[in-house]
Amino acid sequence: MAKHPLQFLEVPRRDPIKAVAQVRVMHMGEIYGNYDSAEAASQAGRCISCGNPYCEWKCPVHNYIPDWLRLIEEGKLFQAAELSHQTNSLPEICGRVCPQDRLCEGACTLNDGLGAVSIGNIEKYITDEAYKQGWRPDLSHVVDTGKRVGIVGAGPAGLAAADVLARNGVRSSVFDSYPEIGGLLTFGIPPFKLEKEVVRRRRELLEGMDVKFVLNTTIGADKSFDELLSEFDAVFLGMGTYDYVTGGFPGEDLPGVYEALPYLVSSINREMELPDDNPCIDLHGKNVVVLGGGDTGMDCNRTAIRQGASRVTCAYRRDEENMPGSRREVENSKEEGVRFLFNQQPLEILGRDHVTGVKLIETRLGKPGKDGRSRPEPISGTERIVAADAVVIAFGFRPNPPTWFSDANIDIADNGRVRVDQTTRLPFQTTNPKVFAGGDMVRGSDLVVTAVFEGREAAQGIVGYLDI
Ligand SMILES: Cc1cc2nc3c(=O)[nH]c(=O)nc-3n(C[C@H](O)[C@H](O)[C@H](O)COP(=O)(O)OP(=O)(O)OC[C@H]3O[C@@H](n4cnc5c(N)ncnc54)[C@H](O)[C@@H]3O)c2cc1C
Ligand code: SF4
Repeated sequence: MAKHPLQFLEVPRRDPIKAVAQVRVMHMGEIYGNYDSAEAASQAGRCISCGNPYCEWKCPVHNYIPDWLRLIEEGKLFQAAELSHQTNSLPEICGRVCPQDRLCEGACTLNDGLGAVSIGNIEKYITDEAYKQGWRPDLSHVVDTGKRVGIVGAGPAGLAAADVLARNGVRSSVFDSYPEIGGLLTFGIPPFKLEKEVVRRRRELLEGMDVKFVLNTTIGADKSFDELLSEFDAVFLGMGTYDYVTGGFPGEDLPGVYEALPYLVSSINREMELPDDNPCIDLHGKNVVVLGGGDTGMDCNRTAIRQGASRVTCAYRRDEENMPGSRREVENSKEEGVRFLFNQQPLEILGRDHVTGVKLIETRLGKPGKDGRSRPEPISGTERIVAADAVVIAFGFRPNPPTWFSDANIDIADNGRVRVDQTTRLPFQTTNPKVFAGGDMVRGSDLVVTAVFEGREAAQGIVGYLDI
């Protein structure tokens, strides 16, 4: 049937069904349903194929969005899957976790009142459904170059590098300290945003492309970096950022105060039935205060709710408008019963043998700082105490470069990030020409899709270095 040119007026945006809050908080599973083929086609048909697709520009990997939307509208699922993998190594994962409201969908022409095309949901549908129907990446035309690359880190950056290298005839071995692949996709982002089965499926696809995973192996401890350098023709580093930012106020060491990542990982280990040296941090029945307004903070809020916390309060030092996390996740937190305190900065965590509360002070937004964001200024005389018997600190992460970097001539900047000067070297090449790096360890904590972009670009740099 020919497409109606004004389909976007007749067909409103419809997202897959989202489980109601009272039901979804009873389990850890994903909260969004899936399109069927008819819904996917009809939603894809809302795209007006603008001459200059802003969505593509705003997508960090520059997906060919209108093209795969058209293929889905025409029912050409496998072609859409192949096309979507030309620019994105983890499309079904980005479709789930990208903050689309400030990326592709935020830039959609229809976002102005009519409802943006549901790009993320359709991107997720393409790979999920194609996989179900038997699609697998077609590498039959790829010739093995005989070159081998060692990758440190099986997070999005490392996986994306492995994907692009495989498509260029370069086999890679991916080393990771964890017992599963995914980095923060597995050991960070909770299953209600991204079920672990999705990452396992991606592992199967990559192993089908001859990517080898060497897990439970820390480079620098179980295997030296020198060995890696001598065994492989080039090395890619995608090791993430794992130093926790602290508040620097009294009480952070009190029993009952937890760092966000160990808290989330302990819940995930229990969920995945993985061995854990420490008991699970279970906040069942606790009055929880989460400090921080980013994605990590939202994930802690919603994990605590699912564990059965008696109350979850999230305090953030700026206003709602200036929260760094995805709007969608703030809304989901609210729906699930999280109470937000905006413009509230922590001064102290209170308690003698155990946390009993948090002292907060009200803020107003002042002039922008170096990062361009308005600085919160405390208003004296507005201190208040919020009772708590558990506090989770979610202030973000800083790079943690290992000491062996200097022996390997890998320079880091003052802020701890690996230096990749792209004007004089190949894309994402470090100061050691044989070593490339990307993802959070280069740009600081950011997004899955930007880590994917950098892993892919670095792989192209490696292809250039190996002169393939
Ligand atoms: C709680 C949380 C929620 C988030 N939610 C979102 C979201 O909703 N959407 C979004 O887009 N982004 C989100 N992010 C950000 C996103 O997960 C990261 O930006 C992304 O995972 C970075 O990818 P990466 O490959 O650079 O590093 P990572 O994902 O951190 O992977 C690095 C890997 O390197 C391994 N490694 C490190 N050192 C060594 C070594 N010496 N030897 C062997 N292995 C090593 C680590 O074990 C790890 O597996 C979230 C982050 C967190 C913490
Ligand atoms: S990768 Fe992210 S930004 Fe790009 S199209 Fe997919 S959901 Fe949108």
